[in-house]
Amino acid sequence: MKTFCGRANPTTGAMEWLEEDENYDYHQEIARSRYADMLHDKDRNVKYYQGIRAAVSRVKERGEKAIVLDIGTGTGLLSMMAASAGADFCYAVEVFKPMANAAVKIVEKNGFSDKIKVINKHSTEVTVGPDGDMQCRANILVTELFDTELIGEGALPTYEHAHKHLVQEGCEAVPHRATVYVQLVESKRMWSWNKLFPVHVEAEDGEKIIVSPSEMENCPGVPSVCDIQLNQMPSSDFTILSDVVTMFSVDFSKPVRSASTCYRVQLETIKSGKAQIVLSWWDIDMDPSGKINCTMAPYWVKPTSALQWRDHWMQCVYFLPNEEPVFQGENVYLTAYRDEYSVWYKLQRAREEENKADVHVESPVCRCQAHLLWNRPRFGELNDQNRTCQYMKSLMKVLKTDSVCLCISDGSLLPVLAHYLGAKQVLLAFLKANNLEDKIKILEAHPESLTSSHLEDKKISVLLGEPFFTTSLLPWHNLYFWYARTAVTMHLASDVTVLPQSASLRMMIVEFQDLWRIRSPCGTCEGFDVRTMDDMIKNSLNFRESKEAEPHPLWEYPCKSLSDPQEVLTFDFRRTVPQHDLSAEGSMNLLRKGKSHGAVLWMEYHLTADISVNTGLTQISNDKGNCEWNPHCKQAVYFFSSVIDSETQTDLPSAVTYAINFNPKTGEITMDFKL
Ligand code: SAH
Repeated sequence: MKTFCGRANPTTGAMEWLEEDENYDYHQEIARSRYADMLHDKDRNVKYYQGIRAAVSRVKERGEKAIVLDIGTGTGLLSMMAASAGADFCYAVEVFKPMANAAVKIVEKNGFSDKIKVINKHSTEVTVGPDGDMQCRANILVTELFDTELIGEGALPTYEHAHKHLVQEGCEAVPHRATVYVQLVESKRMWSWNKLFPVHVEAEDGEKIIVSPSEMENCPGVPSVCDIQLNQMPSSDFTILSDVVTMFSVDFSKPVRSASTCYRVQLETIKSGKAQIVLSWWDIDMDPSGKINCTMAPYWVKPTSALQWRDHWMQCVYFLPNEEPVFQGENVYLTAYRDEYSVWYKLQRAREEENKADVHVESPVCRCQAHLLWNRPRFGELNDQNRTCQYMKSLMKVLKTDSVCLCISDGSLLPVLAHYLGAKQVLLAFLKANNLEDKIKILEAHPESLTSSHLEDKKISVLLGEPFFTTSLLPWHNLYFWYARTAVTMHLASDVTVLPQSASLRMMIVEFQDLWRIRSPCGTCEGFDVRTMDDMIKNSLNFRESKEAEPHPLWEYPCKSLSDPQEVLTFDFRRTVPQHDLSAEGSMNLLRKGKSHGAVLWMEYHLTADISVNTGLTQISNDKGNCEWNPHCKQAVYFFSSVIDSETQTDLPSAVTYAINFNPKTGEITMDFKL
């Protein structure tokens, strides 16, 4: 069956109706899911297996039958572990239908159909009794319902319900307990993801400072978790202000309460500085003794143990509502508040201790709108003074005192910069705090519907864009600027300057240190055949005829370059969007030994003939080919379906040939590679 889905095309801006297969959504979900990553997480799998074996043994030692409830079985992995460990029967509950179907197949293929019953329901719908889904309550509760924030996927209400209705009192639980840890730090880099720093503008009549409105200064931001690969954050980018402390823990073998609550710890600061950020991660003990422990602790916490790479569990960055100066040796109180699904933090000085923590402190809600308009990487980008300098330098080149500027970008500071740098009139922007209402006019119109009266019958002499649009996911979605430019052509002066004047799409072949795992087949996992899952992911990835590139922030995912970066397409914003396709074919020589996992693509914007901003590769830092990436942008990654390993080929250099096409009607960029 086909269904029609409406969407705004991120590149062309056009509203379009796409005929989608009814299974499109779930194919997307499977293709982009974290199941492969979980199956590749050796540390997690080994420890679950150990914990499950130990729990089954404890139950057997008591002379009881081992009845397992596995909530969120996914591939059925944890139930198969339990069955192999000697469990008498397993109830494997999975709410997502395609996964429940896959679990049935995988369980059958591995010969456990008589021991494992897959139940395609949400656990809170499961019934117990002679005619129920489960014959009786279980005495071993196995789950893996955790996200980076531990509770974000609803583990607490699920456990609360399971203890009330699905498991016996005194049951064994794997994991047995989870513990959340915190550490207080100062970090200009991370703080720049949450607050707008003052922007310094060197104007002809002296230095101007763009300040953020006071609502923004005092705004607590948004409640969504900021989860990152903290192991990629160099220690020079933050200052540790406290030791690591335990914030709270949850015993999963006892009844769990999901209702909102708070936890409070006293910290002694080990260094003076500005308390801005709470870094947090958790670990799980698979057994009551805590001997089988799986931890998300970052590199500086346990420097001796090998780190397991994983993308399904990372670490959390929490922004305190305001930065607080703290002094070495001072006692401060940190409170963690949580509701059923999320956690947030507050810091109090020792002398404010009387105002005991109040459970009902509300989760952060953005009051200034900026946190709704700009996500965290965008805040970081706007705070990047080097980047701002590139725009200022290029604006100074193109602006004249009588310039009439039109800026097309979402939530951009360019209009303010342009005004300070001398433009007579700037259209389309914001910012009351800088008292510019009469200088900068916000036009609430789409580029296509812009009329001369919007522009007060003036012609645009400078058309500006960063370009940045909140709807962009892939780098080339910002080509919307080109479409908008085309739509306003009749309002442009004949000698208009367009900034950026052009963009290039650049590409490089890379070997990933770890990211390849998320799209790589697993085969067997701890001895269980999970190829059904591999096939299912492959099928979903191939569901669209042309495979798509996917966005990833590569500063979090180390890789090395195997080819030189190459320019593959250019887009000339001085002209309108062409009628015909733009295409390129060529080959990229592999210069280094390594596995060609895929191609990375990014945009470079040429603001003027000699000033560019790069949203991708910033540097190849050594002979090994280690790459450094723009920390504010996501790059496009196209994973090759087969990997060539040039280590095994004697006749280097080999090459990857490519064909890339930009279709101006759809705004899509399609690509094909041959290894
Ligand atoms: N147990 C598997 C998969 C874990 S992923 C493994 O360890 O490899 C978590 C799975 O739980 C997802 O497939 C999700 O759909 C499912 N899930 C989450 N909450 C659930 C609930 N309350 N009831 C049933 N399934 C749930």
